[in-house]
Amino acid sequence: MKEKTIAVHAGYEGNEFGTMAVPIYQTTAYEFRDAEHAANLFELKELGNIYTRLMNPTTDVFEKRFAALEGGAAAIATASGAAAVFYAFANVAEAGDNIVVAKQAYGGTLTLAAHTLRRFGIEGRFFDVRRPEELEGMIDERTKMIFFEVIPNPSLVMADIARLSEIARAHGVMLCADNTVASAALCHPLKHGADLVVHSTSKYTTGQGLALGGMIVEREGLVDLIRGNDRYAHFNEPDPSYHGLVYTELPLPPFTLRTRLALLRDLGGTPSPFNSWLHIQGLETLPIRMEQHSRGALAVAEFLAAHPKVRRVNYPGLPSDPSYPLAQKYLKEGMASGLLSFEVGSREEAQRIADSTKIFKLVVNIGDSKSIITHPASTTHQQLSAEELEAAGVPEGLIRLSVGLEDPEDLIEDLRQALEA
Ligand SMILES: *Cc1c(COP(=O)(O)O)cnc(C)c1O
Repeated sequence: MKEKTIAVHAGYEGNEFGTMAVPIYQTTAYEFRDAEHAANLFELKELGNIYTRLMNPTTDVFEKRFAALEGGAAAIATASGAAAVFYAFANVAEAGDNIVVAKQAYGGTLTLAAHTLRRFGIEGRFFDVRRPEELEGMIDERTKMIFFEVIPNPSLVMADIARLSEIARAHGVMLCADNTVASAALCHPLKHGADLVVHSTSKYTTGQGLALGGMIVEREGLVDLIRGNDRYAHFNEPDPSYHGLVYTELPLPPFTLRTRLALLRDLGGTPSPFNSWLHIQGLETLPIRMEQHSRGALAVAEFLAAHPKVRRVNYPGLPSDPSYPLAQKYLKEGMASGLLSFEVGSREEAQRIADSTKIFKLVVNIGDSKSIITHPASTTHQQLSAEELEAAGVPEGLIRLSVGLEDPEDLIEDLRQALEA
């Protein structure tokens, strides 16, 4: 099946009532047939619903449909994108280990890797996504994951996924792509050699700024990388917390299985069924929305690139952008999503522009049908030092735009009056 069909149908085969729409199974728990059935479910002799912290039928449709869209073996939904990123790390690393993360990443991912994980004894190491060769000097026997963003938010410096994959494979380390900005409609990192994909579904997936959510998708055959790999001994040895379960011995995608059985069980960052249902509605229109977001952003980027007050525009869909060749290689028909950033002379000038737009609302979100303007240095990336800001590709005069689904002509007019106000 093709993408637009998968987005509407995958993962749902109807039910006894014939409901065309996926129902919201708003329940905390599930009734067992009898005591033996309950025991079988807990022992994994039978698969089925136990408790919504672990699984839910509405969330299950969302997970199956998302995995199908990304071309993965399985997917697991979390309460937010931040939870998905943390669980991806926590599923592989323990005290003494390290994770190598692209410097060009979401602010929350950077603070997680640099500060919060450190308190758990896990070290974050940082490489420049434009220089994959830096990875060679950073990977050691305690490296458990290489993590990057396909279109980094907000620097928009794209990664060469296949090149990163080559290095990760050579070392037997898992490669995880945050595909939030490109979305499951425009890029499929698993097809280019990533082992895992994470998303903040709060952005383009829900699409109208309606609900927080996250997703981790695992590739087909990841077990072959994990089995017998000393880096991932805890997947190959009996898990004492699950009476001796060995994840690689079950015929189920092991990364997703362990996230569910160990992490959702103990940490509990599970989505509500209602939010999963909202995300299913979002997925149905994701492929067609991404086409319009991309068209609108390209028109806005072309306008800004020609404006005398604008120093530079970052948009991988612009032929003059350094990421343009990678956008052509990895993004569907070169469509580069709705996010762009541009630089003006100073922090003050950037804040004045952000205060002057009328259609673009001053909000810290992206991927909404409504256009958004953000000044990262004073908001999303405020906790970073001046050097960290430069390294993350976020100069003080940088403005980020999330181009919504309005008419691009109105958006350009709004920016014109704000720039010239
Ligand atoms: C927003 C975002 C996150 C965090 O997701 P939440 O759903 O807000 O927790 C992670 N990565 C990227 C690229 C994001 O844009």
